[in-house]
Amino acid sequence: MKWKLTVLAALLSIGAFAQQSDDHRVIVITTDGFRWQEVFGGLDAEIVKIKRYHHGDSLRLVETYGGKTAEERRKKLMPFLWSTIQQQGQIHGNRQVGSLVNVANPYWFSYPGYSEILTGQVDVQVNSNEYKPNPNTNFFEYLQSLSAYRGRVAAFGAWDAFDRILNEKRAGFPVVNAFDSYQSYVNTKDSDLLSRMTKESFRAFGEAEVLDVFTHFQAMDYLKNKKPKAMYISYGDTDEFAHEGTYNHYLDAIHRVDAWIAEIWNFVNTDPEYKGKTTLLFTTDHGRGDAIKSEWTSHGEKVKDCHEIWYAMIGANVPTLGEVKTAEQVYQKELIHKVAAAMGKTFSSQKRE
Ligand SMILES: [Zn+2]
Repeated sequence: MKWKLTVLAALLSIGAFAQQSDDHRVIVITTDGFRWQEVFGGLDAEIVKIKRYHHGDSLRLVETYGGKTAEERRKKLMPFLWSTIQQQGQIHGNRQVGSLVNVANPYWFSYPGYSEILTGQVDVQVNSNEYKPNPNTNFFEYLQSLSAYRGRVAAFGAWDAFDRILNEKRAGFPVVNAFDSYQSYVNTKDSDLLSRMTKESFRAFGEAEVLDVFTHFQAMDYLKNKKPKAMYISYGDTDEFAHEGTYNHYLDAIHRVDAWIAEIWNFVNTDPEYKGKTTLLFTTDHGRGDAIKSEWTSHGEKVKDCHEIWYAMIGANVPTLGEVKTAEQVYQKELIHKVAAAMGKTFSSQKRE
């Protein structure tokens, strides 16, 4: 009899735990190639002075994002990060106070960075932005394999490579990328309009990447109407504008992403299905140059400091640490495991061609 009670107690406790963690929601957000230097220091006073980077827009930039201290400047640039997330979550990667966050892969560009974030490990064979569909399973694919999450997982990406990075065919959840027809994935009141606007929008970055505003509005529409339990959103304007050397657009893009995260978090906190049970991770795929100032536009193996990144978390089971000012070394490949732990899950990527 005694063992029966023990078994029953064990079953009950497993049941209680599983029920609790299976109700957990997750939103992972990335913005491509956004530097930790601006996350913690705001507008860069040296870059903004250079005409080929401010393009005649320096007065407005200084008026909008300028300030005497780093704290003042960064809060103007990212008011949501430096209020709600600072007060209720955690922000890592300010190297000036000892918080080090780095990519672990040796390449320092997008596909390897996203693969590291989403699969929680480094595969050195993933070495090109044109790499084939990812043989490594990702965290969202793992969630999709669980009955509690199946059919409740979705990804939205400005860049069309996410079909391969997340291996949409194998993973089995919608990966709505670039100029994909949103309407072909979902039928909501606004899906037709969103699809048409996306299709007919100005192709500022060519055929492979759409402006973030379209990705965001699709993701928001999906979040409100389809209520996914696990969602990934990847913005790309920051990287594109940085490569172009338009510091004005780069700063405006991040200011907009910050406002969008505020919008998403506000929705989470007003919807009973999400409130109190959602964990949010916000990070980037790689950094950009800084030691040689002109290299802020660039990244990759030849740019010596662009493996330096940052991340922020907020929400369920995320302790309030604010801006982390204690010595630490965190790698990009650890981030999804921190999310998994907050959800009461353990994930380990598998190779599946
Ligand atoms: Zn880039």
